[in-house]
Amino acid sequence: METMPREQLRAVQDERLRDVVRRCYENVPFYRDKMQKLGITPKDIRGVCDIELLPFTDKQDLRDNYPFGMFAVPNSEIVRIHASSGTTGKPTVAGYTSGDIDRWAELMARALYCANVGKNDVVQVAYGYGLFTGGLGAHYGAERVGASTIPISGGNTVRQLMLMEDFGSTTLMCTPSYALNIAEAVEKEGIDLKRLKLKSGIFGAEPWTEEMRKHIEEKLGIDALNVYGLSEVMGPGVSMECMAKNGMHIWEDHFLPEVIGEDGKSLPYGQQGDLTFTTLTKHGMPLIRYRTHDLCTLTDEPCACGRTHVRMGRIMGRSDDMLIIRGVNVFPSQIEHALMQVEGVSPQYHIVVDRQGNLDTVEVQVEMKPEMMSDTVKDMEALSAKLHASIAAHALVNAKVKLCQPGTLPRTDGKAKRVTDKRKL
Ligand code: AMP
Ligand code: ZN
Repeated sequence: METMPREQLRAVQDERLRDVVRRCYENVPFYRDKMQKLGITPKDIRGVCDIELLPFTDKQDLRDNYPFGMFAVPNSEIVRIHASSGTTGKPTVAGYTSGDIDRWAELMARALYCANVGKNDVVQVAYGYGLFTGGLGAHYGAERVGASTIPISGGNTVRQLMLMEDFGSTTLMCTPSYALNIAEAVEKEGIDLKRLKLKSGIFGAEPWTEEMRKHIEEKLGIDALNVYGLSEVMGPGVSMECMAKNGMHIWEDHFLPEVIGEDGKSLPYGQQGDLTFTTLTKHGMPLIRYRTHDLCTLTDEPCACGRTHVRMGRIMGRSDDMLIIRGVNVFPSQIEHALMQVEGVSPQYHIVVDRQGNLDTVEVQVEMKPEMMSDTVKDMEALSAKLHASIAAHALVNAKVKLCQPGTLPRTDGKAKRVTDKRKL
């Protein structure tokens, strides 16, 4: 499946798309109503060529049908329920049949295999276990490839390190920000990397940059690979980077991706827009043209690994994470990129946006590397000035830079909180 010629893959998608549209129409009142309003029936959808006839689905539709209104099977067929904790209001719910759980394990196994993880590996799953899909998603995939799987969950970093060493973990799975915390702890505890067997890391669930990848790879002596997913569409493992490290292959036999522009039209490969998925094989909660609001580009250029499935670039940000500062659109990832161009700071940062009078203000707090600490005030001023210039160049904002002592900004076990927007408080 992973190396199937693209025309053949398209035929698989055509058939599966017809099937999922029929299932949605027959079993989900929300979709039947939407399609009736558009004057279409499943018969009008011959295949992927007709995708633009179908309606979009948004997070709000999931909220309006909370909790189980989007399910396409009777509740007796649902064997697992996950939920993504929105910052406000009710969470978004996802329901899985046993077939869905099985396919999820399979796709996550594909993801692990991309990182050369197999039965001789020891996988430390430091994603949170619970309603969040990270922990269990990674777990079932690691078991499926036959690896010895450690369900340690996030947090308690010193204990993570002890077990990593004692159990000989070869692969770490967690958010990139937590991987960074682990890397810092390795340094702080004075652990010699030679005592660890770690060779790869599979990191996702939040945006990160190439610079952050290099930093983590160096500190932990591993290959760090990007994995993507979202609970509504499945959970982790919707797409995964191969060892070529040039974008994440989307498992297109299960998910039909589109990138949608501001006018609501599907964009050609190479153009950035809102990543949108139609699930082709999910039975519990199939989704048609679900707008993720994650901004990225797709490419179908051949990959060195031989897999034919399209690759998505790094997520530039979410359309709803975008900060508008004095009219300029800024993503936290641009600030991260700007910071990492300058020697002497670590990728631990926090962005505070506020308003004074009618003007937006931005403060970027960033931790210095420990070796900077002995330097003089003059050096600090020079460092601040360099960071200021880099942020102005890469993110086009005039930010106040606050240098912080190593280890002083708040840490998390899961997804990092990069922004405090006081304008919204
Ligand atoms: P959740 O619903 O908690 O599973 O969160 C899903 C969201 O996490 C996605 O819509 C993305 O915004 C983000 N996300 C997941 N994986 C990645 C990744 N590898 N890079 C950037 N953002 C990611
Ligand atoms: Zn590849």
